[in-house]
Order: sequence, then structure tokens, then C-alpha cells
Amino acid sequence: MKDFFDIPRPSYTFEIFPPKGSNNLEGTYATIDALASLTPDMISVTYGAGGTSRENTLEIASTIQNRYNICGVAHLTCVGSTQENISEILKELKAGNIRNILALRGDLKEPSDLGEFKYASDLIRFIRRTQNDFRVFAACYPEKHIEAPSEAEDLRRLHEKTACGVDALISQLFFDNDVFWRFRDRARSIGIETPIVAGIMPVTSATQIEKMTTMCGASMPERVLRFVNAYGHNSHAIKQAGIAYATEQIVDLLARGVDGIHLYTMNQPDIVRSIDENIRGILYSMRVKRD
Ligand SMILES: Cc1cc2nc3c(=O)[nH]c(=O)nc-3n(C[C@H](O)[C@H](O)[C@H](O)COP(=O)(O)OP(=O)(O)OC[C@H]3O[C@@H](n4cnc5c(N)ncnc54)[C@H](O)[C@@H]3O)c2cc1C
Repeated sequence: MKDFFDIPRPSYTFEIFPPKGSNNLEGTYATIDALASLTPDMISVTYGAGGTSRENTLEIASTIQNRYNICGVAHLTCVGSTQENISEILKELKAGNIRNILALRGDLKEPSDLGEFKYASDLIRFIRRTQNDFRVFAACYPEKHIEAPSEAEDLRRLHEKTACGVDALISQLFFDNDVFWRFRDRARSIGIETPIVAGIMPVTSATQIEKMTTMCGASMPERVLRFVNAYGHNSHAIKQAGIAYATEQIVDLLARGVDGIHLYTMNQPDIVRSIDENIRGILYSMRVKRD
């Protein structure tokens, strides 16, 4: 299996989530079967804040790595955790042959959630200090993190975070490529040299998009609002429009030299396959050019 960091850029990666409130992983493995056939460079597995999906996340990431021979990345949040908890999880990750972590703070339900780890940077520092043989990914926010007082402050904190030892950043979803590019330029201008992979979430329904934008604060260009309003009542039409829009976003990002594309798959391989068919030729031709 190729190490994610040895593959030529732009990288091409997927994100999935474990089943909610169930230990039945059959459906998840069917999803991974379908996604694996598209040969991504890695698949990352989300983690419930407070560790609610811990065992499933570890098992799925380990299976991706060991059975599918694809780089598996385990998301790991630190809100409410102690150093002892995190040390234990790091040991379990190693035992499962997982060497890649997306290190996150996690969303706060209450400010009192903050325990021994207040920010993702505390977790990254801890990983680097205690178990320095992991590759560490971290999150970034083209439209700033929802709690940050300003973009400048969020970028300053991002700079501090990357300085703790981040190998690559994965962005929050966004629908306007200019927003991503402005963010990337500002990050580079303050000295953040870490690769920034663009997180793309295809629109699949009006409800999904309303939920996601409320949760993460991503702005919605007029064009997207128009097709969500026009096709929102027709599940087939809105998916087709979502696939077309995500394709267009990716084609443009690749043309502008993005470091990588990370697809939020929402465990819907059919949608990912349609996007893949549209962009695969371009993505791989860019890789050849850069080598
Ligand atoms: C790619 C991606 C994957 C994700 N996967 C998951 C997942 O699997 N499970 C999950 O629960 N959540 C996930 N999230 C959501 C994430 O947990 C939340 O956005 C969370 O609120 C912030 O996490 P973070 O690691 O970005 O936090 P941080 O980097 O710690 O930043 C959080 C806030 O604190 C500020 N800040 C940072 N350092 C300091 C400091 N020293 N002093 C003051 N302020 C500071 C930042 O500006 C920001 O506003 C994901 C997000 C992304 C983008």
C-alpha cells in the first residue's frame, strides 16, 4: 500500500461515517467495497464527539487499511478526554495498524466539555510528544470556524496548530471556490505551508444542505440556492444537479492547482461514482503533469 504522503498531488480521498448507534458494520463494508473500487488514496472515518463511535471508527479504519489495502485515517476528537484516554486510543490505533489520524477538537455541547485538551493543537502536541510515529491531519475552515471571532484570528490559530506538527490540512466543505482560494492565499501569506486539501460535499437534498450550512456556516452561492429551490422536491433531479455542481467545483479546483480533493461521501457510493467518472481523467492527467 502506498503511503498517502508518497503519492503525487493532487491527492484524491474520501470520508465516510460509521453506523449511528449500531455495531452492525455490514452496510458500512458494502459502502467501502464500492468506494474502494474507485481507488482513492485514502479513506477517512469520522468519530462521534466525546468518542461515541470510538470502537466502530477504529475497527473500520483498521479494516480499510488491512483488508482493502487503502490508507485508513481515523478521525479522533479530544473534547472531554483525558491524557490517559487518548494514550489508550493511540495504542489501539497502533494495534490496528493505523498510522494516520485526523486530529480534532470536536464540537462543544457545553463549554465545560473542555477537559485536559482545549484545542486540537493540544491533541496534536500530545501525539507528537508521546507517539511520534503517526501522520497527523487537521481541519481548516475556508469561511472561518463558527466560533472564531474573525478570519484573521482563526488563521493565526491555524498557523499555531500547523506548527505543532500537522502533515496535511483538510478543509471544511464550501460551495464557492473563490472563498477557498482566498483562504488558501491568506494561509500561505502568513507562512502556512502545509498542503491544504479541499473538502467537497455534493448537494443531495434540500434538508441535507440546510443542516450542513447551519452547522458549519458555509455560505451558499445564488446558483446553488437556485437549483436547490428548483429541484429540492425531486430527489433524482437534485442529486443530478448536486453531482454536476460538485464536478464543476472539482474541475475548477484542479485547474487552479489544488493540493487534493477530499469527498464527503455521506456513505453514498453511487453519487461518488458519478462524480468520479466525470473527474477521474482530469485528476490523473494533472498528476502525470506534475510528476
Ligand atoms: C475535515 C473535517 C473533519 C471533521 N471530522 C469530525 C469528526 O469526525 N467528529 C467530530 O466530532 N467533528 C468533526 N469535525 C468537526 C470539528 O470537530 C469541529 O469543527 C470543531 O468545532 C473544531 O474542531 P477543530 O479540530 O477544527 O478545532 P480547533 O483547531 O481546536 O479550533 C476550534 C476553535 O478554537 C479556536 N482556537 C484554536 N486554538 C486556540 C487557542 N489556543 N486559543 C483560543 N482559540 C483557539 C479556533 O480558531 C476555532 O475557532 C470535522 C471537521 C472537519 C473540517
